[in-house]
Amino acid sequence: MLENQLLKIAQDFGSPVYVYDAEKIESQYHRLTNAFKSVKHLKLNYAVKALSNISILKLFKSLGSGIDTVSIQEVQLGLAAGFSPEQIIFTPNGVSLQEIEEAAQLGVKINIDNLSILEQFGTKHPKTPVCIRINPHVMAGGNANISVGHIDSKFGISIHQIPHILRIVENTKMNINGIHMHTGSDILDIEVFLYASEILFDTAKQFKNLDFIDFGSGFKVPYKEGDIETNIEELGKKLSNRFNAFCKEYGKDLTLAFEPGKFLVSESGSFLTQVNAVKQTTSTVFAQVDSGFNHLIRPMFYGSHHDIVNISNPNGRERFYTVVGYICETDTFGNNRRINEIKEGDILCFKNAGAYCFSMASNYNSRCRPAEVLWYNNKAHVIRKRETFDDILRNQVELDFSPKKEKVIA
Ligand SMILES: *Cc1c(COP(=O)(O)O)cnc(C)c1O
Repeated sequence: MLENQLLKIAQDFGSPVYVYDAEKIESQYHRLTNAFKSVKHLKLNYAVKALSNISILKLFKSLGSGIDTVSIQEVQLGLAAGFSPEQIIFTPNGVSLQEIEEAAQLGVKINIDNLSILEQFGTKHPKTPVCIRINPHVMAGGNANISVGHIDSKFGISIHQIPHILRIVENTKMNINGIHMHTGSDILDIEVFLYASEILFDTAKQFKNLDFIDFGSGFKVPYKEGDIETNIEELGKKLSNRFNAFCKEYGKDLTLAFEPGKFLVSESGSFLTQVNAVKQTTSTVFAQVDSGFNHLIRPMFYGSHHDIVNISNPNGRERFYTVVGYICETDTFGNNRRINEIKEGDILCFKNAGAYCFSMASNYNSRCRPAEVLWYNNKAHVIRKRETFDDILRNQVELDFSPKKEKVIA
């Protein structure tokens, strides 16, 4: 998308506002499917939690994608968007047996990552096929909060517990249709990913009725100039070859599944804010925008970097700014950034705002959440209205604390 198209959206729809470029989502989807084109059965399940707007889900449906869900509400959202239950996989962590049963009842694919739940579910519903989430204990770099493959991780069933899984399967006669791993975000080293895949293949051999192997996600996208991203094309070539060889050995053309979130939507997103004030202190020039970590928490939560561009003055002289929000708490979006000269009223664009931005937004400071706009076919479409004060009050229950009238004694 061009900067002047973004600027026009901020003018037409107000700020702050999230904008997603449908074309970028489509091209990322096709880039990934192309990289694995030599695999006979490939399935991409978009990870809904990255960006869960129903119109985004419908866009993925139109591309032929399935979805990966982590709560019963995401399952319901997927069904509401028109996905058939077979196109939905439920991959929760730490949810109750009841929630898994509820999802199974809706007919979606079930992924279990806990021995106790596996045993209970297999005992009660031996006929329902189940996929097992394995923790191969391979760390895929990145932030400690989003690395989920390490030994202390709460995710997956450890590969060291395979004998226990096999015992449960044998005793309950349950049907295991898939093997899954998700090693966490930020795969940089393809060799490490392939190493984890070997562990998954080894595990897969022990189950005779598989339909698919799910390699999770964690593909890294560039957040700033010079960032290394996962080399999808190279990974595609190497893993496809290995997968095809495995299928021969296994004696069946299995489905190769992935469940990317960030890779598919991160770069499609721009978050537009307006500068309320430029504040010069003894040491810094602050640009204070009409938003905060209530709308985009990643910098404060994970220390993530989002490039910030002044689209109102793209050719202005560059100066150093610290860009902060309006939340009454330290609320820094970017420290000491080189940005084209900022005046009050300018529109700043935060890049890579597609994944884990709106979906993690809150009403902290009793602020309304922004609108969301999808740029599709060269036109801006509102896909979520800006919240209003009524939304802030909705579901709150007012008690009456007015003093009780004194009883008059006759
Ligand atoms: C969050 C999540 C994903 C998506 O991860 P990205 O880094 O956004 O690609 C995939 N699978 C599971 C099980 C997840 O929890």
